[in-house]
Amino acid sequence: MEIRHCSPRGATLLSQTYESLEDAVNEAANQAVRAYCQGTFSVGGVMLDKSGNVLNALHNNVVEDGMTFDPTAHGERQLIDWYYDQISSGALLPPPEEITIVTSLDPCCMCSGSILSSGFNVVSAAFDTFSGIDYTPLPISPH
Ligand SMILES: [Zn+2]
Repeated sequence: MEIRHCSPRGATLLSQTYESLEDAVNEAANQAVRAYCQGTFSVGGVMLDKSGNVLNALHNNVVEDGMTFDPTAHGERQLIDWYYDQISSGALLPPPEEITIVTSLDPCCMCSGSILSSGFNVVSAAFDTFSGIDYTPLPISPH
C-alpha cells in the first residue's frame, strides 16, 4: 500500500465509476488524507450506487482551521445529510438500499446509527478498536 503524506491525489471525480471495491477504498483513504491535512480526524468515505458510480465523496470536518467546526461532521454522516439534501431538492438518486457507503474506518456509534436508520449499505476498510462499532473485541482471558 502506498503511503501518502498530506498530498491527496487530485480532485474526486464525481462522474467516476469504480470497477472494484479497492478503487472505492482508495478514494475513501484519499478522503481520509484530506481530513488529516485539514487537521481533523483522518476518516473519509465515498457513496456509490449499485453500479459503482460515485455519488459523492467526503471526509471528516470536525476540525477546520484548528478549531472545532462541528463535532458531528463525520464523513459518513455528512454523506447521508448530503443525500437527503439532494432528495429534498428533487434530485433523482437511487433509494438508500441500493447505495453503499465505503468508509476508510469502522463507523462510530453516531454514524452507524445514521447508516442503519437510513438503510444504506456500508463497507469499512479498517477496524477501529477505539470508537468503531464493528470491531472484534479482544478475547477475555480466563482466570
Ligand atoms: Zn462517525
